[in-house]
Amino acid sequence: MEETAIPVSEQVREVAGAVEEALRVPRGDGNSPLAAANSFEAEALRAEILRVGRKLWERQYVDGNGGNISVRLGPKYVLCTPTMLSKGDMEPADICLADLEGNILAGDRLRTSELLLHLEIYKADSRARAVVHCHPPYATAFAMTGTAPPSGLISEYEMFVGPMAVAPYETPGTQAFAETVIPFVQDHNTILLTNHGVVCWADTVTHAEWLVEIVDTYCKKYLLAKQVGEPLKFIPDSKIEEILAFKRRHGYPDPRLKR
Ligand SMILES: [Zn+2]
Repeated sequence: MEETAIPVSEQVREVAGAVEEALRVPRGDGNSPLAAANSFEAEALRAEILRVGRKLWERQYVDGNGGNISVRLGPKYVLCTPTMLSKGDMEPADICLADLEGNILAGDRLRTSELLLHLEIYKADSRARAVVHCHPPYATAFAMTGTAPPSGLISEYEMFVGPMAVAPYETPGTQAFAETVIPFVQDHNTILLTNHGVVCWADTVTHAEWLVEIVDTYCKKYLLAKQVGEPLKFIPDSKIEEILAFKRRHGYPDPRLKR
């Protein structure tokens, strides 16, 4: 039987691929930034960031190069989106690896200037593993007024978000802007950023994006309900207590749980 020779270049490629696989570590908590960036965990998180970035763009929650996403990678690092790139056009190589001070450790692009905001949230709330910031139209309309819609009108919104905090305006990208959220982080998972947009955080990037959807849809429905012309019907207090018990059981933050 005739044997088919494998070209040398293909053999070299195969061996190089095997070595690369062998050098990879399964999780991103290795000591070196390179090991963390090359881990299977980092690869999965980059794919999730790309998927969520695409959703944000398709749902018109980001415009131009606006919005940013980050996620914790082990105890020492975060992966985050780069600056000056549409969230609908990202490739895995565009995602930056940074430390918790915001220094870039791996990646060809400059990190988002809003990483400072994300880092303040990670520092203030150990439950925060992923942060999504964007400019969804209905929530941002409220941010333009510096007010949040009243809570108590939609059960799902109450369960997963609840009364929204409103952070005062500061110039985006600055440390002063990043610090505007600090007083609110412990008791919320969503903050309206006055004259800017919204920031949400959760245990995963996917779940943080869900919060953006819930918040923007709530703002939209509230504006529609106001146009119906009938008085708003609020969920009774006793039923709000049941929702708060659900939130306590599942570890969702809510300023009313302090009572
Ligand atoms: Zn923004």
